[in-house]
Amino acid sequence: MVSKSLLPRVASALFKVSPVMSQKRPVAQVAASPTVAVEDPTAFGFEEVKTEFVQEYNSVCTLYKHIKTGAELMSVTNEDENKVFGAVFRTPPDNSTGIPHILEHSVLCGSRKYPIKEPFVELMKGSLNTFLNAFTYPDRTCYPVASTNLQDFYNLVDVYLDAVLHPNCMSDEQTFEQEGWHYELNEVSEEMTFKGVVFNEMKGVYSSPDSVLGRECQQAVFPDNTYGVDSGGDPVVIPELTFEMFKDFHGQFYHPSNGRFWFYGDDDPNERLKILDNFLSEFEARPVDSKVQTQKFFPEPKYVIKKYAAGDSEATGEEPKNFLTVNWLLSEDRFDPETDIAMVCSLPTPAPNSVQPVVTAPPSLPARA
Ligand SMILES: [Zn+2]
Repeated sequence: MVSKSLLPRVASALFKVSPVMSQKRPVAQVAASPTVAVEDPTAFGFEEVKTEFVQEYNSVCTLYKHIKTGAELMSVTNEDENKVFGAVFRTPPDNSTGIPHILEHSVLCGSRKYPIKEPFVELMKGSLNTFLNAFTYPDRTCYPVASTNLQDFYNLVDVYLDAVLHPNCMSDEQTFEQEGWHYELNEVSEEMTFKGVVFNEMKGVYSSPDSVLGRECQQAVFPDNTYGVDSGGDPVVIPELTFEMFKDFHGQFYHPSNGRFWFYGDDDPNERLKILDNFLSEFEARPVDSKVQTQKFFPEPKYVIKKYAAGDSEATGEEPKNFLTVNWLLSEDRFDPETDIAMVCSLPTPAPNSVQPVVTAPPSLPARA
């Protein structure tokens, strides 16, 4: 898989753009940029929500809303030849069957315009991309691509948009079985086993102590909302997933009304609107309930003890290994000053494999590729 280093930049800019939009500057002042301002976005089916200049990135950022479907587009124009596109859907699961993760794998296995088996693999080999990947977070699924070559970039955007909006896996149960789970029996005398790309991947994840720790912390701190289940998929639960549930999930969340799109770089911002509108205008707006509920505070501290796979310490004579973490459920609203100070002072100093203060909050939750 390719490097994930670009993602935090893409994701954080997409979801936290307002705090850095401090200094306004008219679009026209970016004279050196080869990009041009969009005169009339309504001609391309969009309305402008707001435009601001972000000095730190020397970028003009415009937030658009697609008039027909309500899809949001963050269009960032600057002189960076490394053009980036991202399609993001909020995909909060309510169980640990790994639907969002299996879907992330499956939509990249052929689409209406690109009915080949593995367009993603072909792109990895043949494209001039500088970044190409997909990520499942506990609450959203992201499809970012980047390229410095304009035509290559447009091709990538076309493949990705077609993949997320018109994937062949919705009618091809074999893709679901291949990427999700299926039974495998090579010899009649052998025992039947479960197989599947995501199933196997998650077996590996569940045997890693670090990932067990991270997941248990997250689920202990957020037991009542989507962060209380595993969007990646618990191998014990994955075989409960049916093809019907899988299709319903795509129908529910992979809709423009639940989508956020992102363009960045020196490409023509008019063309961005045109490309997106071509895909989005096929859909009708509809309400999508994908909001993540806030976790209620606990009346008292909780203590959770879990086990993880490890060697037999009695046989090896080694000391049994343990992890200990202290997690805080924080409020979106500020605490009063006294509690704020008490929180800071109460955080212990981390030491390897002993005490790890973990402040788990949605924006820092890990992604699964
Ligand atoms: Zn995966």
